Amino acid sequence: MNLPALAPWQQRAYAQAAEALAAGHFGHATLITGPAMIGKRLLAEHLAQRVLCLTPCADGAPCGTCKACSLFAARAQMEAAELRPDGSLAHPWGHSAHPDLLLLGYENHPKTGKPRAEIVIDQIRALTAAMGLTAQLGGAQVVIVDPADAVNWSAWNAILKTLEEPQPGRYLWLLASSPAQLPATIRSRCQRLELRLPPRAEALAWLRARGHSAALAEEALDAARGHPGLADAWAAGDGLALRREVVEAVAALRRGRAVPSDIAQRWVADGRAEERLRHLAEYALRAATEQPQAPAVRGLSLCFEAANRARGLLRTTVRADLAVLEALLPWLPARAAGG
Ligand SMILES: [Zn+2]
Repeated sequence: MNLPALAPWQQRAYAQAAEALAAGHFGHATLITGPAMIGKRLLAEHLAQRVLCLTPCADGAPCGTCKACSLFAARAQMEAAELRPDGSLAHPWGHSAHPDLLLLGYENHPKTGKPRAEIVIDQIRALTAAMGLTAQLGGAQVVIVDPADAVNWSAWNAILKTLEEPQPGRYLWLLASSPAQLPATIRSRCQRLELRLPPRAEALAWLRARGHSAALAEEALDAARGHPGLADAWAAGDGLALRREVVEAVAALRRGRAVPSDIAQRWVADGRAEERLRHLAEYALRAATEQPQAPAVRGLSLCFEAANRARGLLRTTVRADLAVLEALLPWLPARAAGG
């Protein structure tokens, strides 16, 4: 199958990388950054086809017909190992059959059979062993680590070794939405390719082309604070309805007309607490940017932090409704919170 076409903001980053490749300035290791769902993986895959193609066009674009391009396009979904911890597909467009495209992501724990929450050192050892071999098609070799945010500390040490011994035609691409969390020793050895939020008009045009009505596109883009990938997901599913529910609950809490533990119970009942907390965090951030002078700003940043902390707690053994409760309490009027 062919990959989906790049959106305009992804195309700009792609063109920047293509130019660097043509000029011989594209480094061995690249940190591909940008918020979740902005298209880092799609960008990386398009770039992978470009560098793996054995007979590229005059402008460097992949030919689409050589052996490398054919293998690159041959895709399949594998076992449960190909799922992320949240249940989404680790390879949204299938796992490529190209032997020199190595994809490193969440692996299943051998004992529980469930995806691990991090990328561990054994995976890196297996990877570096594979990288030591000659590229099977005699061309380039590409390693995509997605998400690099999930690589654990000891595994980084093993990656560091490959960064210190760059080889021509070998590429290591680290995809991260929170690059600041990566070790400085890693970041300093990588070039940076950043996907930024596009201008509003461009995002709206893209959302319209995805089949959303103008009104829905605007509402979703506002709710997602200009992030078209997130807006698309919300507009396509019931994300906006979920967001309205969150906003109404917060309004009731602020007026002292709702019991936080009741809301927490409701929010976890259908297994979508994480999504609601994400809306809650976005809502706090949006409210804070819209009222920068308001006395409530400090409160709103606390609300934002509490929502994100609660999202982290959901991945632990803490009871889900108690985690959600932590995120709701900062929204209570001061006297009700006992302050
Ligand atoms: Zn080709």
